[in-house]
Order: sequence, then structure tokens, then C-alpha cells
Amino acid sequence: MKAAPFAYVRPTRLADVVAELVAADEQGGGKVIAGGQSLVPVLAMRLGRPGTLVDITQVPELGQVGVSDGVLRIGAAVRQRRIEREYRGTVPLLSQALPWIGHREIRSRGTVCGSLAHADPSSELPAVALCLGATLDVAGPDGRRQVAADDFFVGAMTTALGPTDVVTSVRMPLPGRGEGFGFSEVARRHGDFALAGVGVRVRIRDGEIRDAHVTSFGVSDRPQRRDLGPALAEAITRSDGSATDLASRLTEATDAMAADVVTTGGDSSGSPAYRRRLVRTLAARELARAYTSTLRSVAA
Ligand SMILES: Cc1cc2nc3c(=O)[nH]c(=O)nc-3n(C[C@H](O)[C@H](O)[C@H](O)COP(=O)(O)OP(=O)(O)OC[C@H]3O[C@@H](n4cnc5c(N)ncnc54)[C@H](O)[C@@H]3O)c2cc1C
Repeated sequence: MKAAPFAYVRPTRLADVVAELVAADEQGGGKVIAGGQSLVPVLAMRLGRPGTLVDITQVPELGQVGVSDGVLRIGAAVRQRRIEREYRGTVPLLSQALPWIGHREIRSRGTVCGSLAHADPSSELPAVALCLGATLDVAGPDGRRQVAADDFFVGAMTTALGPTDVVTSVRMPLPGRGEGFGFSEVARRHGDFALAGVGVRVRIRDGEIRDAHVTSFGVSDRPQRRDLGPALAEAITRSDGSATDLASRLTEATDAMAADVVTTGGDSSGSPAYRRRLVRTLAARELARAYTSTLRSVAA
């Protein structure tokens, strides 16, 4: 199948991107195109028929990336692969998640912000943004605004963006002292979308667990974050200190969490019960790893 006919514009100023989206909205609808890795298949299968594609990759402001004020700010035209190569370890959870996305060729075209705007429930980056408490910068006809990741993901492929809004950048917090991270997923083959996955951030302050956020993805209409800090603190008191033992003592808590967050129906790749088992196991393992690595970094 081929895409239905569409107009294509490539502005070089952000104001013109918004103006093009507004004009397109009055004539059958427009869509931002960034890396095209999700949108082009949608068009080719005629699951969407926008009248105009507004290419944002030639707007200089959107191609910027840098560290300032405690965040890594990633412009909307910045490819996933660039962050993977040039900012490895700057935001550890992001660095852990990026290699799980598709294949290198996909990441060489796909953008970080495009993945957030697409909001596929099985995508890695929305889970990372939610787990870290990232902030999205958005521009629209009424000006610019900031949207917390907590408020951005509304449902499957649905966000807080209006039809004439464009994400201009995302701000991911840099790690503080006493923070540790873990990320893992299970897919049928490497590069496939996840059947289930988790991103974890553990924060320790003055020797106490401050919080232990587990964000699950692939198991609901959007990523789901839960704080397992009290369960982690309790498991530590019974553990011999090894990550393996700690993980086994966490499974009761992660089992209860999995029962809460897994709401997708079954498909040919896995039943809801299977996905619950995956979340339970991945969450316990990554929590234990994140905690033990945090202890090591605090002691160093
Ligand atoms: C074979 C294959 C495997 C893949 N595997 C994975 C995977 O395992 N995990 C994963 O997460 N993704 C996967 N992807 C998707 C990939 O990560 C995409 O690059 C990403 O989801 C979208 O980024 P993009 O820049 O290509 O966006 P586009 O395809 O250009 O856009 C996607 C959607 O987001 C909107 N959009 C894009 N940028 C903005 C913006 N700045 N403001 C407002 N709206 C915007 C578009 O209008 C469109 O609706 C895969 C893709 C392919 C083709």
C-alpha cells in the first residue's frame, strides 16, 4: 500500500512550523514529521491521512542538545543515535534504554521527542521520561508551555498535545548523588517492541531509601510508575546483601505491583498472566541491581 497524497512543507523557523500546523488544521489536518520512523509506516498503511506533513528537521533551534541547570535538554530534531553516542551515561537510565529501541538504523533516523510524541505504550522512551520526571517543552498558537511527563501521556498513542502543538525539546534530569538505575525488557527478538519492560530509579539519602520508582511499559495503555521504596527498605532488612537474594525477597511486592499495572489483554505474543510474570521478575531484578549499584557509588 502507498500513502494517500499529502502536501509537504519544511519550515526553518519554529513560528512557521506552528503557522503551518494551524493552516493545515483548517484544511483537513496536519502532522509533524521528525524521523518518520513511526509516521511513515502509519501513512503507508493508511492508518492516518494528514493533508500536510510539517517537517521540523530544518529548524536550527530544534537540533540543539546540551547540559545545563541539572538537565540534559534534547531538541525535537535530535536523533536517538546521537544521544546514544555523544551523551552516553549523561542520563544513565536514558543510556540504558536507548539500545533496546529497534535497530541502529531506526535510531539513526528516529528522534527522542518523536518517540515521546508518538506515545506507543510499548516504547522505551516514554517510560524513561515518566520514571525520571522529565519535562517536555511545547509550542503552539498560544505560545510556549511546559508539560510534565506525568501529565503528557494520556493513553495509547495519545498525549496532551493538541493538533497544532509541537514538542520543541525534552528535559531529562541528570542523576544526583545516591541515585541508581536499572532497565530491562523482554521482546520476541532483539529490536522488536517489548512484551513487557521496566525502568527503575532508586534514590538513597543519608543511608535511607528515599524512593524506588519502577516504571512498567508494554503492559498498559501508557507507562505506569509505582514507588516501591517501602518494600525495598523492608526487603533490605531481610537480605544477605547480594543483588540475587534481594531480588528474591522483592518478588512478593513486585508481584502485587504487576497485578496492578498489567491491564493489556493477551495476544499471540503473550497472555496477561505471562506479562505479569515478566513485570514481577524484571522489576525485582532491576530494583535489586539499581540499589546495590547505588550503594557502591555512594561508598566510592
Ligand atoms: C522496524 C522498526 C522498529 C522499531 N522499534 C521500536 C522499538 O523497539 N521501540 C520504540 O520505542 N520505537 C521503535 N520504533 C519507532 C522509532 O523509535 C521511532 O523513531 C519513534 O517512535 C518516533 O520517532 P520519529 O522521530 O521517527 O517520529 P515520526 O515518525 O516522525 O513521528 C511519530 C509521531 O510523532 C509525532 N511527532 C514527532 N515529533 C513531534 C514533535 N516534535 N512534536 C509533536 N509531534 C511530533 C508525529 O506527528 C507522528 O504522529 C521502531 C520503528 C521501526 C520502523
